[in-house]
Amino acid sequence: MSQVPWSSHALLLREVMLEGYLVNETPLRIGVGREAPLGSAVDLAVIRIKLGKKTVPYIPGSSLKGVFRSAAVQLAKLKGLSVCSGLSKETCMDLERQELGGETLHERIQSLLREGHNLEAIKLFHEKTCLLCKVFGAPLFTGHIEFTDAYPINEKGEPLDVFVGVRTGIAINRRTGAVHRGALYQVEYVEPGARFKFSLHTTNLPNYALGLLAKTLKMLNEGWVKIGGFKTRGFGEVRVEALSFAARGATVKDLKLFALDELDNEVNLEGLVEASEGWLKASGNRAWEVLTKLEKVWEGAKLS
Ligand SMILES: [Zn+2]
Repeated sequence: MSQVPWSSHALLLREVMLEGYLVNETPLRIGVGREAPLGSAVDLAVIRIKLGKKTVPYIPGSSLKGVFRSAAVQLAKLKGLSVCSGLSKETCMDLERQELGGETLHERIQSLLREGHNLEAIKLFHEKTCLLCKVFGAPLFTGHIEFTDAYPINEKGEPLDVFVGVRTGIAINRRTGAVHRGALYQVEYVEPGARFKFSLHTTNLPNYALGLLAKTLKMLNEGWVKIGGFKTRGFGEVRVEALSFAARGATVKDLKLFALDELDNEVNLEGLVEASEGWLKASGNRAWEVLTKLEKVWEGAKLS
């Protein structure tokens, strides 16, 4: 491995972008902030943003990132990888560690950074944290994946029509199963068929980590992973349309994505991608085939 691990932001080894549309097959509901507890008779609105003259529902990038991370946690565990939940106070940074004399990684890295030992800090981070902290981020550390907010817009950026429905529910006490007094509530949701343009941008991710993201996107497309609230009632199934893939950088050459560390495998994209404006690009079925190749690296990688 080089002096500087790929989890460092000091070097830009590669960029990989995935873009496309998320089209909801079932009602979709992403609420505003924390939802009121069941039993309070309030209207639960979907989150909206002003685009030009229209105010439209959208999917925040932070929601998509959360969906991807929690699905990736499950996939990593299935592979036998030890990963943290990524939840606040439960990340790899927050554990007290015997080998650090009872300090947390957070405390140790903070002192290294304070003393100006930036390279030691990133090496320690790389060695001690799980794959998902490196990819998605952790306290003190920006990850290597960013999701933009997904707006209902066409390729020209013009807002598309989104239809919003309302359902009336009855608030049930989860413990006793009894109906709360006066507990009718109204829930807003996005009607099926809305199209949200999504984009995710990654830097420095090895092919196996890209493969993990690829697998997550496939599971989303197949309905195994859902978005937003009321998933247990079937809400939040989306399919992915008009997918495009693009990669560039020092480790992207001769139609290949080179291995980024000793656990990684090179991926040959010959016949699938075309060089255009400094990027290797693929769209539609070819983009999915690129993802399948990356997924195989994830499946085959001996990570532990
Ligand atoms: Zn972690």
